[in-house]
Amino acid sequence: MIIAMGLPGAGKTTVLKNVKSDYVLVNYGDLMFEIEQEHFGIKDRDDMRKLPIEKQKQAQKMVYERLAKMDGKVILDTHCSVNTPSGFFPGLPLDYLKMLKVDSLVLITADVEEVAKRRAEDPTRKRDSDDVALHDNMNRAFLAAYSAATGAPAVIIFNRQGKLEEAVAQFEKILG
Ligand code: AMP
Ligand code: MG
Repeated sequence: MIIAMGLPGAGKTTVLKNVKSDYVLVNYGDLMFEIEQEHFGIKDRDDMRKLPIEKQKQAQKMVYERLAKMDGKVILDTHCSVNTPSGFFPGLPLDYLKMLKVDSLVLITADVEEVAKRRAEDPTRKRDSDDVALHDNMNRAFLAAYSAATGAPAVIIFNRQGKLEEAVAQFEKILG
């Protein structure tokens, strides 16, 4: 499994949708949203990170149980850490990470001002206007921890404004 992570608004999903490969793209947020709609009555995917942390943990466990059953060539679209009212919540707690066969850990990031601008201009999502630089720094710390824990290499890809194809090409290179 290739695990792709990034700040909300970094363009992670857009990069992944443009990658040409024989990998199956799995969106973690879609799985979690399904589970939280059913169990916690959540109606908007951007309300998930505001739920009490215990509920997010319960849903996260259920998502990982599903992910652990997936084998073959999978790219997982997820978050390195989630910015919740209780603090930065790890997207890949080590016990769950161990349940997956991780080949590569990829952080897709972008210039802080660009991310803030993309969030402000996205009418389809309820993006936060929080400290993007702090979250990006935390994500790098989590990325290093995930890499050290699994032995899988960590890759950072910059999705520069107007240079989507470059980010896509870098991602495709990882797939070999
Ligand atoms: P996205 O559509 O990629 O922004 O993801 C939607 C939401 O899914 C995020 O705001 C989080 O609430 C949740 N989410 C995504 N990945 C994870 C993860 N690894 N652990 C916990 N929650 C996650
Ligand atoms: Mg996304």
